[in-house]
Amino acid sequence: MADYDYDLFVIGAGSGGTRASRVAAAHGARVAVAEEYRVGGTCVIRGCVPKKLLVYGAHFAEDLKDARRFGWQVPSECEFSWETLRDNVLAEVDRLNGAYKKTLESHNVEIIDQRAVVTGPHSVRLADGTEKTAERILIAVGAHPAVPSCPGHEHGITSNEAFHLDAIPSRVLIAGAGYIANEFAGVFHQFGAHVTLINRSKDILRGYDLTIRDRLLQISMMKGIEFRFDATFEGIEKMDDGCLKVSMSNHEPMIVDLVMFATGRLPNTHGLGLETAGVELDDHGAIKVDEDNRSTCPSIYAVGDVTNRVQLTPVAIREGQAFADTVFGGKPTRVDYDCIPAAVFSHPPMAGVGMTEAQARQTLGSVQVYTSDFRPMKNVLAGREERSLYKMVCDGDTGRVVGLHMIGPDVPEILQAAAIAVKAGLTKAQFDATVALHPTMAEELVLMR
Ligand code: NDP
Repeated sequence: MADYDYDLFVIGAGSGGTRASRVAAAHGARVAVAEEYRVGGTCVIRGCVPKKLLVYGAHFAEDLKDARRFGWQVPSECEFSWETLRDNVLAEVDRLNGAYKKTLESHNVEIIDQRAVVTGPHSVRLADGTEKTAERILIAVGAHPAVPSCPGHEHGITSNEAFHLDAIPSRVLIAGAGYIANEFAGVFHQFGAHVTLINRSKDILRGYDLTIRDRLLQISMMKGIEFRFDATFEGIEKMDDGCLKVSMSNHEPMIVDLVMFATGRLPNTHGLGLETAGVELDDHGAIKVDEDNRSTCPSIYAVGDVTNRVQLTPVAIREGQAFADTVFGGKPTRVDYDCIPAAVFSHPPMAGVGMTEAQARQTLGSVQVYTSDFRPMKNVLAGREERSLYKMVCDGDTGRVVGLHMIGPDVPEILQAAAIAVKAGLTKAQFDATVALHPTMAEELVLMR
């Protein structure tokens, strides 16, 4: 047997790479992980975690206003310090980065703080020129924000930079209308910016249930967020006063202070040397893998966003775990991609699991849809017009709940629990057999008509 430096060399210490490294090492493998930026990856360093903290921060804007209706004396002008929130969030990111490193170290995973590129089926080269060999290589390098190649694109930022802004700009234009665009629209808006989302198509959040995303659009517009559709980004011109003039098709140009691109994410495969080992990519530059995360090179595997299957942290973690258990733990495991719950931490948030109504109508012979459209009691007392909307999609023949889609306060928390029932294949009758827990918003799940 060949004598390799390691049993496993992992490139990328994000969610998938960290889990795979730790579990493979726990199974007895000699593991090294190379990370060119910071251990923790997109989710921990510049994604889900700091974003969610900003979303918490943004909620106070309305909570403080609503508090008056609940009897609290709140000054009419509450001061918000972006610097305080930003620095506290970045300090929390530092803490998590340290915790991730400690976890790897305590599992005897060697952390190499350098970029590594593949040089063959069993070898990698580090940025300092050192060559390392491994019986198996796992690519878990994630993805990066896609930026349209229009003139002046360098004047725009992506979500990566949004966490480090010096100040909250007065006028923000966000290109795209997906997850990141809608989440940051809520954040910037609550912090006092005027926000415009522009998208190339007529839709926001394509793939989500139509009724639910339409409700988000209505509420966002009611709050004062602007939308421009059928608008292809044409360019950014930096003006003498530092403002940015943005041109787009079908609409007048706009002058803003900040442009943020949220137009999807692309796999980080460029310049990774994958061709030296015969690792094939798909049309989007993602690594092609089989159900066991194995690439077209038998000793090289890939998990997470770099494979562009489902770009979600918990999925990358499951793939990393399945890879390590299968290859090093003697426990062949495959990820079940059916019924993955997802949420958009917009303002208010949305969440969904299973088929949308449109998907169910295309797939099933008969479909029954139940909805609950209500104003949460907290909003009623606060004098807030926003209504929540829950939609349950059922197989008309069996009554089985095949999809659940929600928008309203706390729906990601509610949906995570309800997703267990949907995944388990429960029927509408079984939901209804559960007594409502009153007064909650979640009780609507067992009262839908
Ligand atoms: P999304 O795929 O959600 O949305 C991309 C948006 O950009 C769409 O509105 C799309 O328009 C538009 N777009 C795509 N390509 C172009 C282009 N070339 N020119 C102009 N517009 C374009 O991507 P995000 O960047 O928001 O997020 C990336 C991924 O990260 C998500 O898919 C998600 O998996 C993950 N994520 C998950 C979060 C969560 O779980 N809460 C939070 C943030 C990110 P159109 O629809 O018209 O094609």
